[in-house]
Amino acid sequence: MTIDPGELPPDIAPDTKDWTWTVHQTCPECGFTAAEIDGPSVADRVPALTEPWQTVLLRPDVGTRPRPSTWSPLEYACHVRDVCRVFAGRARLMLERDAPEFANWDQDEAAVAGRYHEQDPARVRLELAAAADEAQQAFAAVPAGQWGRRGIRGNGAEFTLESLGQYFLHDLAHHLVDVGA
Ligand SMILES: [Zn+2]
Repeated sequence: MTIDPGELPPDIAPDTKDWTWTVHQTCPECGFTAAEIDGPSVADRVPALTEPWQTVLLRPDVGTRPRPSTWSPLEYACHVRDVCRVFAGRARLMLERDAPEFANWDQDEAAVAGRYHEQDPARVRLELAAAADEAQQAFAAVPAGQWGRRGIRGNGAEFTLESLGQYFLHDLAHHLVDVGA
């Protein structure tokens, strides 16, 4: 760890980009084509896109940022863990209710409030594996014919369960590329 645990690392510029387009086209940064994935195959793709973190989190320099303005692999891992939890919750909510509006989740606020840079990599390994399993189960629980159920983000963007799953898988794939895994 190069970051003094008593200090917050430098601020990361908030990620205000709208990434929903990644559901429709190949991501030029990571090469993932989310649109090719249909709802029923979302759950089965989660393990391959999350298990590499078990190795990443063993890196001796896992807490080191490559640049002051870029998350360390540890911070990315915490983010991915929380993404798994958030998307599992959203998928369950969309099954329980008709067109729910998602609670806002600011990933940059979550990183600061959760003190991602101070977290214990060994613990994050366990938590990420459990969160990935939770997300896999949430998508595996979607009955046939229910993939068109809707949910709405605070900014008005509308998802179906299928596009939520596509968006989620792209996020997982993209962050593996972010840390060279
Ligand atoms: Zn990408």
